[in-house]
Amino acid sequence: MTKRQSTYIATGREKEVFRSAWQCGLPVLLKGPTGCGKTRFVQTMAEELARPLITVACHEDLTAGDLVGRFLLQSGDTKWLDGPLTRAVRTGAICYLDEVVEARADTTVVVHPLADHRRELNVERLGEHLLAPDEFMLVVSYNPGYQSVLKDLKPSTRQRMVAIELAYPDPAIEVQILCNETGIDEALADLLVRMGQAIRTLDHEGLAEVASTRTLVSTALLIKAGLPLREAAEAAIAGPLTDDPVATRQLLELVKAYV
Ligand code: ADP
Repeated sequence: MTKRQSTYIATGREKEVFRSAWQCGLPVLLKGPTGCGKTRFVQTMAEELARPLITVACHEDLTAGDLVGRFLLQSGDTKWLDGPLTRAVRTGAICYLDEVVEARADTTVVVHPLADHRRELNVERLGEHLLAPDEFMLVVSYNPGYQSVLKDLKPSTRQRMVAIELAYPDPAIEVQILCNETGIDEALADLLVRMGQAIRTLDHEGLAEVASTRTLVSTALLIKAGLPLREAAEAAIAGPLTDDPVATRQLLELVKAYV
């Protein structure tokens, strides 16, 4: 298997905004639907800014302690282990909290002072107050389509951040992404992108998500591995997007028009 390239292709001015935010010591709020390139974008920016990247996939059980660190019992001794946020502050890394709204509410207590002008992290258990170096940056992402009102970020958190909104790319750029990511030819990439665009206009209640760039990339990879287009689209688009039989049928009908 050949190693995939890890270059993010810009869809607008997001790189310039991110770079400026980093220079000003401001945190970034990345918004966008799943599979639109948020993670890839942060990876590429970390590479371009020559900073280590520490990524935390947030989930509903993630607490402030998980981010900051904890004492662990090791063969009778207690030993402190920095959490990912503390490690990022100590090393001047970019800390990416993916799907931050999933985390427990108590995480905002540590995120707030790091996100505002104080740029500090209180490691309470160690009695340490860490000042983030200039190179440190906090990046959080969320998918506006997913969240219930309750789980929305607090305005006081949001207002401290520079927002960058990523959407699915324009067709010409998405074709370029597919070619770049998978090595398929432009004609096939163009067909897949047109199919993706058509799927994005489908309106069915059984369809919680539309075909993301990620699902198109997976489809292209399966085709490259030898699967016919229809089977690849069924496996990489229809299957992951829905369990609803009517929505599945509708998707497959649409795919048939492109075979
Ligand atoms: P997200 O974090 O928004 O869910 P990812 O960053 O994981 O999405 O993107 C999913 C995949 O889609 C990537 O692995 C990459 O193959 C592709 N992709 C999406 N947008 C871009 C882009 N602008 N440039 C390069 N690849 C992209």
